[in-house]
This record gives sequence, structure tokens and C-alpha cells, in this order.
Amino acid sequence: MAAPRTYRTEALSLRKMPLGEADLLLTLYTRDAGKLRAVAKGARRTTSKLVGYFEPLTLNLLALSKGRNLDIVNQAQVIDNFSDLKSSLTGLTQGLYIAELLDGFGSEDNPNQELYQLSLDALGAIEQAPASEMPLRFFELHLLRVSGFMPELYDCVECRRTLEPGQHRFSPDGGGTLCLDCQPPGFQSPEFQAPEFQSAGTSVRNLSLSTLKVLRMLHRTPLAEIPDLKMGRTVALELKSVLGATVRYWLDKEIRSNSFLEHLQNLPDSPVYS
Ligand SMILES: [Zn+2]
Repeated sequence: MAAPRTYRTEALSLRKMPLGEADLLLTLYTRDAGKLRAVAKGARRTTSKLVGYFEPLTLNLLALSKGRNLDIVNQAQVIDNFSDLKSSLTGLTQGLYIAELLDGFGSEDNPNQELYQLSLDALGAIEQAPASEMPLRFFELHLLRVSGFMPELYDCVECRRTLEPGQHRFSPDGGGTLCLDCQPPGFQSPEFQAPEFQSAGTSVRNLSLSTLKVLRMLHRTPLAEIPDLKMGRTVALELKSVLGATVRYWLDKEIRSNSFLEHLQNLPDSPVYS
């Protein structure tokens, strides 16, 4: 039996670009199909029934048709446009950061409902507490987890011994915590002892015990309790820096593999959309 030509899915709009005279090329993150690029035909005409549905950070229920290369949006119904989040510049900026990471880590034809739900939950938490950056930190750590890149936080990533309190360092691109005796593979310059440095593609940095404890708490605590976590400014900055470095490392790798995948899917003979 042939696969159905039409389907419905919930989809969060991440980006839109003009296409042709009046169409929009959409980048969506869907509940059922992962990242999806689709066309909304005529959506730039003021008379179109699709006009105004695809601003970034709008959650729609979409009806789509399979296209030869790109699927076509036939109908859209708003579920949530996160209007409270968009009403403050801070909230909007944080929301767009979530969208950017979702675009980078999400891949086409690879549904990840945990990632989809995490993103919606994080947007909801930002909407509730736009002054707190903790929902972003929670999102970064759990984005790594649900994408298969969770950094080690409890043992040494090299020798697997349980870390003694305070006897650790952290490697954003080497898999997480290390004991003081181990170096990650590719680390070749022990003569440099600066607190943070890069060598041969693998970096090792000091990480305070307080920040490691907050990372573990982010790992174990439900998102609803996260905006109330209190910490000093030094720990908050270190947390942002270490998660940012880890996300950027994997994002670079992911973007390269995604664009390769998208290139393959858009070849004329691609089996994916035919
Ligand atoms: Zn070790």
C-alpha cells in the first residue's frame, strides 16, 4: 500500500525565508517528523489563509502534503504563539536562542519527541520567568542529554573512577568530568597550566565544585523547580560558560552532519521526498 500523501503534525516554526514570488520556505521542528523544511504556498500574499502563521516561535497544528522535494503546508491552526514570551525583548531573545539550538541539533527524518517536548517546556518556563536564565541552562544540559551528548558529571570520563569531591576538571569537548590524573585523548600540551586553554582540539578547564553541583542538580531536578535555584554570580557565569562551550562543540559537529544530510536529501534523485 502506498504511503499516505497527506499528514498532520504539531510544528514549532524556527525560521522562514521568502521563496519565489509569494511563497515561504519554512524550517519547522515537528513532533512526529523531527526537523522539517516545508513550503507555504502564497503565504506572503495578504489575502492568503496562511498569512501570519509562521513567525518564529509559533506552534501550529499543520496539515501537509508530501512533495517531491519539499512538503507543502495546506492548513495551519495556532496552538500557542507564546505571546507573553514575545512581549519582552529578554523573553524573545531567549526564545530565539532555543529555536537556534533546536535548528542546529534537530535533524531531518529523525523524530525526537523528547527534544520537541523539552523545547516547548523550556519556552513555557521562560514565559513564566523571563528574568531567570536557569531555564536556558536546563535546556542546554538536557538538549545534550536527549541528543545523545550528555557530558559525564559523576565519574572520570577516562578511567571511570568516581570523582573525589573537588578532585576534578572538565573537558567540554572530551566528554565531561576528568579526575586529576587523566587527560582526554588528543590532549598533548601538559606544560601549559593555565586555568582554561585549548590544545590539539581538546580542552580541559578547571570547574568549581559549586558549579559541578549545580550541573548535577540541573540534571536531576524537574524544570518546574529550576527558575527558583539560587546561586552566586561567579557560579552562574561559570555554568553559562561551561555549558555554552559544550553546546558549541557539539553544535559545530551537528551542523556539519545536518547540512550534509540535507544536501543528500535535496539531490534530484533523493528517495526521501519522492
Ligand atoms: Zn581518571
